[in-house]
Amino acid sequence: MHPDIVIVGAGIAGASAAAMLSRQAKVVLLEREDQPGYHATGRSAAQFAESYGNAPVRALTAASRAFFENPPEGFCEAPLLSPRGALFIARADQLAALDAFYRELSADFPAIERLDAADARRMVPILRSDYLAGAVLDPASADIDVHALHQGFLRLFRQWGGILRLNSDVCSLRRKAGVWHIGLACGEVLQSPVIVNAGGAWAGEIARLADASPIGMTPKRRSVALIAPPAGCVIDGWPLVVDADEEFYFKPDAGQVLISPADETPSPPTDARPEEWDIALAVDRVQRAADLPVRRINHSWAGLRTFSDDKTPVIGWDKQAEGFFWLAGQGGYGVQTAPAIAELTTALIAGTALPAALRDYGIDPADTDPARFS
Ligand SMILES: Cc1cc2nc3c(=O)[nH]c(=O)nc-3n(C[C@H](O)[C@H](O)[C@H](O)COP(=O)(O)OP(=O)(O)OC[C@H]3O[C@@H](n4cnc5c(N)ncnc54)[C@H](O)[C@@H]3O)c2cc1C
Repeated sequence: MHPDIVIVGAGIAGASAAAMLSRQAKVVLLEREDQPGYHATGRSAAQFAESYGNAPVRALTAASRAFFENPPEGFCEAPLLSPRGALFIARADQLAALDAFYRELSADFPAIERLDAADARRMVPILRSDYLAGAVLDPASADIDVHALHQGFLRLFRQWGGILRLNSDVCSLRRKAGVWHIGLACGEVLQSPVIVNAGGAWAGEIARLADASPIGMTPKRRSVALIAPPAGCVIDGWPLVVDADEEFYFKPDAGQVLISPADETPSPPTDARPEEWDIALAVDRVQRAADLPVRRINHSWAGLRTFSDDKTPVIGWDKQAEGFFWLAGQGGYGVQTAPAIAELTTALIAGTALPAALRDYGIDPADTDPARFS
């Protein structure tokens, strides 16, 4: 096999870039697991919020909205986004930080609203009056159908002639005469001039195999649990409720309530599992803010959100290893930013100008360039 581009990792980053690149190049997408999306992509909280993350992340999210709202014909059967506002809540001692957050966001997002405690409690009646002092509402936030998004990209990829290979564990990378020799655990070796590192939590390991720049990539575990809704409550219309310091969040999820302690525990790259302690922390933190009885945990899981040192994704050519492209460090925003990041990746690999749709949102390739760490 002699593809133009080999992408390692078939999570949302690899799948979206593969779909867009395969319009103009022969692309092979390699995935170690027997199903794509087994790691971070299949474990997210599925939220789209332009108000979340640092400025480059917010720009990438805003630039992705058009794709979510108008995907290509036949991409999916139902809308990719369903309205679900994001309500950032604060105790009295968090109000100064909440107001600073509101001032920063309202310049870019005029729809953002500052609510008093009574307004916020009308939206989510279980919030405790002795806890809540104020809130900020991002009404344009939404739930993402992550499965449909991921499958839509994989379908597009196959339609344009791309090849997805599962059970394909990349274990060696050697550059010889301008070509990458990509060794798989089964013994097979593929050749390609370009390799894209979309390995999620394993991005640092893949870079080491290629002798690429030693950019810090820290996988951090985040845990989530599902519990029954409070008896007699209609929860479907609740927004995502997030603590102003991001120490917990909860939201409706298919008739249940999804809770998280918003943990960020550094971890080696692995098949992450939730710790009992973190789930207990989620229950404790949510119950301080809301009257939410928890009789049992119906289901829990954890996944790794992988961050660079400045919490901005790393997208671009490596300065040390020729033909090695970084598509990593999407942290807790990899689903909501996937369409714009895939377009940015396609432009950078093809060497073409940044599409106007990205430039208009102020996206600057220098912000995500791996060279910023050298
Ligand atoms: C609990 C939780 C909540 C989240 N909530 C949100 C949210 O609400 N909104 C949002 O936008 N984002 C959210 N995220 C973040 C989002 O899930 C990630 O940013 C995104 O899924 C990262 O995608 P990825 O493709 O880079 O990584 P992954 O999905 O992890 O894919 C990487 C793939 O690379 C493969 N791989 C690695 N090494 C090799 C190798 N050597 N050979 C072959 N294959 C390899 C892995 O098997 C894996 O499948 C959340 C994450 C978690 C864990």
